[in-house]
Amino acid sequence: MKKAKKNAARSTKGKLRGTHPRRVRALLAGLDKAYPAATCELNHKSAFQLLVATILSAQCTDVRVNMVTPVLFGKYPTPADLAYANPRDIEEIIRSTGFFRAKTKSIMGACKKIVEEFGEQVPRTMEEILTLPGVARKTANVVLGTAYGIASGVVVDTHMLRLSARLDLTKHDEPKKVEQDLMRAIPQERWIQFSHQIIWHGRRVCAARKPNCMKCNLEKLCYSKDKLI
Ligand code: SF4
Repeated sequence: MKKAKKNAARSTKGKLRGTHPRRVRALLAGLDKAYPAATCELNHKSAFQLLVATILSAQCTDVRVNMVTPVLFGKYPTPADLAYANPRDIEEIIRSTGFFRAKTKSIMGACKKIVEEFGEQVPRTMEEILTLPGVARKTANVVLGTAYGIASGVVVDTHMLRLSARLDLTKHDEPKKVEQDLMRAIPQERWIQFSHQIIWHGRRVCAARKPNCMKCNLEKLCYSKDKLI
């Protein structure tokens, strides 16, 4: 059984495939070399601001969110200010991020719960943060990892979904299962930085339609059918 697994991990002409530990180490080293300073690109000064910005980033670019949040936090600086605001006013401010009614509902609902049940602080555990309206594992991992340095999982957004498939780190396409595969393959102390680095790689090099494989320093480890070399 062990031998069969080992062979599967080396299936193409002796090349290391999938989540073979040596291959994963090489991928992580490549990411470190390319993106030593990768970090979250949503501007924020607190866990509360990052939570709101991450809710706003659904189906929207970070650049657009970063244009909207200074106005939003200028007018509503605390969770209590947002929790009891006039929803029409929030909708107007965040309109350009798309899905503005649903996002307003999530932001106000999350802020209300933060004020009324968590002493005005964004909770620090996965279990608690998932009770906030509009917060699923992706948002929870962004906030816990970036704002608090707590590695509770891997951020699975559209870039992570695409790249973990291209890099042969999962056979699944459902975010929860992809995250479980990644949590098994990547050492926990790397979950936060790995999330940032893969998102940076997806934005800068491994684009959905035209990956820039000529400029990719993971190219030798990539056997994706999407490769353009
Ligand atoms: S070689 Fe191409 S497809 Fe593979 S990870 Fe790099 S950019 Fe993406």
